[in-house]
Amino acid sequence: MSRKEEKRRIREQMIEENGLIYLDGVSKVYSAGAPALNGVTLHINRGEFVFIVGDSGSGKSTLIKLLLRELTPSGGKVWVMGHDVAKIPHRKIPKFRRNLGIVFQDFRLLKDRNVYENVAFAQRIIEVPSKEIRRNVPSILATVGLAGKYKAKPKQLSGGEQQRVALARALVNRPSILLADEPTGNLDPKNSWEIMKLLEEINESGTTVVVVTHNREIVNDMRKRVVTMKKGVIVSDEEEGEYIDED
Ligand code: ADP
Ligand code: MG
Repeated sequence: MSRKEEKRRIREQMIEENGLIYLDGVSKVYSAGAPALNGVTLHINRGEFVFIVGDSGSGKSTLIKLLLRELTPSGGKVWVMGHDVAKIPHRKIPKFRRNLGIVFQDFRLLKDRNVYENVAFAQRIIEVPSKEIRRNVPSILATVGLAGKYKAKPKQLSGGEQQRVALARALVNRPSILLADEPTGNLDPKNSWEIMKLLEEINESGTTVVVVTHNREIVNDMRKRVVTMKKGVIVSDEEEGEYIDED
């Protein structure tokens, strides 16, 4: 077995035993003061759909940033797809991130580019051949319900449509994991539901989906796994869970 195959085998075994995402006693301290995360252990298996809920400041975005290697932990280990994330060399971070789609509350689209270009851009930076881009972009835009809007600029779109573009951009490179940090935070209830239903469909087609949200009604209705955070620790983790009322 080559060294590369051996490494892959070890990664697969890690995923098998601990999940596609595995936080092992993770702490994050930004500065003097209470840690943002304090001994978080969490396993997420391939194919799961997980909501992460909790008060503002409870550490949800910090957790997402650790998965993306935007941050490294102060203590403990973060494993994503069998990689010890802190140990990924800088030059390999872009390749690592290709397997992670990310969506934010504020869409973060390129304002001077149209819908098609916003999505195609994600493929161009990883040097996908033009021919494939011309096939992939329309396909993913159809999936998110935006066929026929290719030429619109972000400001000509509703919030819900902008978030669909962001979702298409996150998915076009076919990531194994989709991370969404309050994706419906700027949307009305109808658009929030539509985005969450899309996330569910994406999950049903095989992508592991992690969604940070404050949307109590949707969480209670969708009956998914719910991880609740409070002051940097996980206070509950329930299959088919509910949004727990703050005391
Ligand atoms: P949430 O997403 O649940 O609202 P965050 O992960 O953003 O929580 O923040 C958790 C804690 O860490 C908060 O107390 C916040 O003020 C602090 N924090 C977050 N980012 C930084 C930063 N870059 N520098 C210092 N403190 C931070
Ligand atoms: Mg946050």
